[in-house]
Amino acid sequence: MEGYHSPQLDVSVRLNTNESPEPPPAGWVAEVADAVRSVDWHRYPDRSAIDLRAAVGGLHGVGPEQVFVANGSNEVLQTLLLTYGGPGRTAAVWEPTYALHAHISRLTGTTVAVGERADDFSIDLDEVHRVVDASSPSVAFLCSPNNPTGMVDPESTVRATLEAVAAADGLLVADEAYGQFAPWSAVGLVGDGVPLVVTRTFSKTWSMAAARLGYLVGPAEVVENLHKVVLPYHLDAFKQLAGLTAVAHRAEMEARVARLVEERGRLVAGLAALPVDVWPSGANFVLFRPRTVPGRDTWQALVERSVLVRDCSSWPRLEGCLRVTIGTTQEDDLFLHALEEILT
Ligand SMILES: *Cc1c(COP(=O)(O)O)cnc(C)c1O
Repeated sequence: MEGYHSPQLDVSVRLNTNESPEPPPAGWVAEVADAVRSVDWHRYPDRSAIDLRAAVGGLHGVGPEQVFVANGSNEVLQTLLLTYGGPGRTAAVWEPTYALHAHISRLTGTTVAVGERADDFSIDLDEVHRVVDASSPSVAFLCSPNNPTGMVDPESTVRATLEAVAAADGLLVADEAYGQFAPWSAVGLVGDGVPLVVTRTFSKTWSMAAARLGYLVGPAEVVENLHKVVLPYHLDAFKQLAGLTAVAHRAEMEARVARLVEERGRLVAGLAALPVDVWPSGANFVLFRPRTVPGRDTWQALVERSVLVRDCSSWPRLEGCLRVTIGTTQEDDLFLHALEEILT
């Protein structure tokens, strides 16, 4: 197998991994630094992370029994697959989508059933039924907003996919790593007896990629099962207090999201004035395809101007495409200016 890599280069404008362009609020940094002094470092952390789970649940109007927290949402996905996947079981994905869904499935010995999205990268419900009927997946993944296309699945699509997966006795995982940038969330569909979990992360919207903290909201029964599988004390004391402190800064996070959504509009307008095809985005990144210069050459020319975007040009169905993260106004202007130079 090939490992998963997101190439990093030393450039001045880094718009390749969908991080927040801003560091966390200074108040959060100060509070976390203070709190670190009073951690009982000689003791194991609270194994159930109950305070953090209660605080995260409070963001979504659910109790801690419906929240599972882990070291990044990737560990949430891994724990889901260790619990509900494995040899003799199948996970369904619809490409192009987040590569880690299929990758972690394979790492856990889960067979992967691959469906295709429609030409415009939307979910085609006939294709959902074809894959589900053919493979009876134990786990199925939807990513909305979808990485790397940016597309948000409408509620009717998620409901119909949930119905199909439930009929096959499977669990639907809605990966909402970019959920706060989107106009609606599947969290409202979560309930006892409903085979749906929604995964979220502190990496993107919360400016906390370095902290490695993610979670899911789902039925209490699923959360209970995940706790049987995940390693004991998997969430260290520092991370628990960092997350707990972050939730207290929710308003600042929401203000950042609003700023980035506005900036996304400005970036998309800037792209629309250049010879590129642009896909609509409900996330903090935009997929585009240069028309006058091949994608790979455009990527290289951007690197030469110290701007790093994600090169998707060799990925299946994304021939010639690049993905740019929304940065600060200044970073986005540097990107747009460099791109204009290259393409016109
Ligand atoms: C970035 C990303 C994640 C991973 O988030 P971490 O919490 O940093 O592990 C999960 N899903 C999608 C779709 C992502 O783009």
